[in-house]
Amino acid sequence: SLPTIFVITPTYARLVQKAELTRMSQTFLHVPRLHWILVEDSPHKTPLVTDLLMKSGLTYTHLHMPTAKDRKLQEGDPSWLKPRGVEQRNEGLRWLREDRRAQPGGDNQQGVVYFADDDNTYSLQLFEEMRSTQRVSVWPVGLVGGMKYERPVVEGGKVVRFHTGWRPSRPFPIDMAGFAVSLKLVLANPEACFDGEAPMGLLESSFLQGLVTMDELEPKADNCTKVLVWHTRTEKPKMKREEALQAQGLGSDP
Ligand code: UDP
Ligand code: MN
Repeated sequence: SLPTIFVITPTYARLVQKAELTRMSQTFLHVPRLHWILVEDSPHKTPLVTDLLMKSGLTYTHLHMPTAKDRKLQEGDPSWLKPRGVEQRNEGLRWLREDRRAQPGGDNQQGVVYFADDDNTYSLQLFEEMRSTQRVSVWPVGLVGGMKYERPVVEGGKVVRFHTGWRPSRPFPIDMAGFAVSLKLVLANPEACFDGEAPMGLLESSFLQGLVTMDELEPKADNCTKVLVWHTRTEKPKMKREEALQAQGLGSDP
């Protein structure tokens, strides 16, 4: 049977959250055998996300894990200061490992794990590319790292280096959206997780190091020549008028 794709998504409350999750969930509705693991950065599950998932028509697991206070990006901090979504991705991994252990049957190790942020843009083709992942598969990511795209460079069917604008010597200079891992490999390496203390740009490497070598990477998307996912970022909506009206007691009904 078709391997299940387990998609782990960190998400947090802000004005655009419902819009992001609506777009994402409606993309996922077009993907067969997808199990969405949505992890709220929150001390509890919120009604907004609970309701959205319930009505989504998707197969899902709803989790929550708040980011430790000292790890959280503060208003005004530059976005590169601290990695985001770390504890949530690790919580997703924890749940997945425990759940798979509890599943009887022979195919409980069959599947693919993908880390999908809630604001990126995903082509349906991407999921069909990653479904055949044996260990770790890779592909280009558009609009990331101050580039039109970053990508693994493939020669003779193997990844030989990376096209990136920044520190190509990193063990795996790949954005979170640019790789998927087989469930088997995730389960065979129960300690593999994201290191929130990893220096800037090394979060992905902290997870992939020890799981795979560059030589073993499986290039997808026509030998990494097609962009099927974009690291889009949503503008923070301006609330100047809203606040002005609020001051007069005329703000929008929450
Ligand atoms: N995120 C989170 N808590 C936060 C900030 C971000 O859970 O305090 C999530 C966010 O919803 C997204 C992922 O972490 O799914 C990556 O964050 P973001 O998209 O802001 O990172 P960037 O686009 O700057 O890489
Ligand atoms: Mn993002």
